[in-house]
Amino acid sequence: MFLNLSLNLNLSFLPPMEAPSKPGPMDPDLYFRGYHIAMTLNQSAKEEIKRRADIVELIGQHVQLRKAGRHFVGLCPFHAEKAPSFTVSPEKQMFHCFGCKKGGDIFAFWMEYHSSTFPEALRDLGERYNVEITDRPYSAEEKRRAEGREALFQVNELAAAYFKKALKDPVKGKPGKAYLEARGLSDRAIDEFALGYAPDEWDGLLGFLKGRRIKMEAAASAGLVIPKKSGGYYDRFRGRVIFPIHNLREQVVGFGGRVLGDALPKYLNSPESPVFRKGETLYGLHSSRKAIRTEGRAVVVEGYMDLLALNAHGVEGVVATLGTALTADHIRRLKGYAGEAVVVFDSDEAGKAAVLRSLPLFLNEGMTARAVALPEGQDPDDFVNRHGAEGFLERVRLASPMFDFYLEQKLTFDDADVEGKVRVLKEILPVLGRLTNTAQRSLYVRRLSERLHIGEASIWSELKKSTDRGGEASAPGRIKQRLDVARVEKTFHRELRLLNLIVHYPEALERLAGSNWEIFLSDADVLGIVKAFFRAFPGERPFSPERLMESLDSDSAREKFREALLLPPLDSENTVDLAITELEHKIRQIQLAASIKEAKARGDLEGLNQLLKKKAREINRPSS
Ligand SMILES: [Zn+2]
Repeated sequence: MFLNLSLNLNLSFLPPMEAPSKPGPMDPDLYFRGYHIAMTLNQSAKEEIKRRADIVELIGQHVQLRKAGRHFVGLCPFHAEKAPSFTVSPEKQMFHCFGCKKGGDIFAFWMEYHSSTFPEALRDLGERYNVEITDRPYSAEEKRRAEGREALFQVNELAAAYFKKALKDPVKGKPGKAYLEARGLSDRAIDEFALGYAPDEWDGLLGFLKGRRIKMEAAASAGLVIPKKSGGYYDRFRGRVIFPIHNLREQVVGFGGRVLGDALPKYLNSPESPVFRKGETLYGLHSSRKAIRTEGRAVVVEGYMDLLALNAHGVEGVVATLGTALTADHIRRLKGYAGEAVVVFDSDEAGKAAVLRSLPLFLNEGMTARAVALPEGQDPDDFVNRHGAEGFLERVRLASPMFDFYLEQKLTFDDADVEGKVRVLKEILPVLGRLTNTAQRSLYVRRLSERLHIGEASIWSELKKSTDRGGEASAPGRIKQRLDVARVEKTFHRELRLLNLIVHYPEALERLAGSNWEIFLSDADVLGIVKAFFRAFPGERPFSPERLMESLDSDSAREKFREALLLPPLDSENTVDLAITELEHKIRQIQLAASIKEAKARGDLEGLNQLLKKKAREINRPSS
């Protein structure tokens, strides 16, 4: 406790936890209570981590950031976008996406990106920045969720150790070892990917976990054991080579298992659990992301063995999907490390279809993609074993843009007759409409025209029809929409301006403290922010936006405040006084208008007369 006291002593003034209702000097008792509450150990660990961490460095490991003025920007990992609106401020140690409005400090990023709880984020970042977490006063819900996830990670970790040991066992592990050797995998690769073996037993892992006093419910929700109808459990993975699947925090989240012979299913994966989402997880990304970033390119394959075979031949920067189609989440992850993906799926019909399905996703996410067509009947594993790394990389170099691949495939199958051509056109046009690069679009229109023997002009007109149908409002609807937007924008502009002043010139705003500024604001969030500001200010010097942020109680208010923090000042030092004079003037006008309306309603002619005179004076008043 004493150690933390000293840590917190140099913090600037904290806002009171229960603020006085009117702006005024801060109650020393309230001040002290606020101070005391912030003294909790977690708060000090959190502050200390934030002091040591650099948000640009931390986020930059998962999102490609480039400098833009005082900020860094990149493609948002949380929503689909082609132009960067995801903004990181080194100065404010904060991120904010102007598209999906997600934002906050390093803890907020960590929790959102890794889908983890606050206790986990605190522990992870504490480890990363060498800050000891001594106490954990979490909410009951946070605690319940964190403990549930913790139990899954623990049982997965134990199971991974069990499978690994079983593979090394000279008797039990023999079939697994023989299989991996036959597939050309070295001991180094086996160690690097922590491969294991599940002996062909119904209760091998079960017995092991029972011996470690693991609750079978946890093992069952991790999908490692399956409940029997007659009671009790049995092992899910039997007689299979085991591939542990890691998340980006290097924790085991699930397993893939491959049979040694021809039994079905060939591959068996752990089911989804609170720590394992197949649509968000790519096998191998935790170890290959460095190479992906260095090469500026990710190679995407379908299977564990494809990845391992490529790795054994020295091809790095490879990830594998987990028996599911590529998803938008997968692509969002990848584009945080590289600008381009090269998809190398099996050359069978299912593989080709999967590549074709991924094209709209890549277009939506704004990630360049190319596709490799392997010789008929081969997968990347076969191919690299026959042709080596050089042969494979040559294919990668020559890979055609995904759209070309798409066209080739579609036209080969369907262009036989007129109906076939129309079908292809109908399918391709919406995809073509999503291309943002107009030069590229023209090129594809020409190619389509040549291949389908349809005039370019006809294709353009069909394309226009198809994009017009894309949900655009009718003309009167659009005009009304614009007017509504203009009205909202006018009031919103005043509110934005006030927020902008708070953030950039807090001292100057002191002048407004005594005025009836509430009358001026209609947005509940902005009202809350300004109230919080006048509550903390002028008692708090220097003014801390971060502390104001923490005192806000709604996500939407925090969003608006974050945006204000990241936008540049609307006024310069020279114009700020004038801006506030204008605000004061506006406030008086609104107030007068309200009073006049009231006097009229009351029929108070005397009062009305006075007010109108006041209004005339107000209009003639010099504005500075
Ligand atoms: Zn976003």
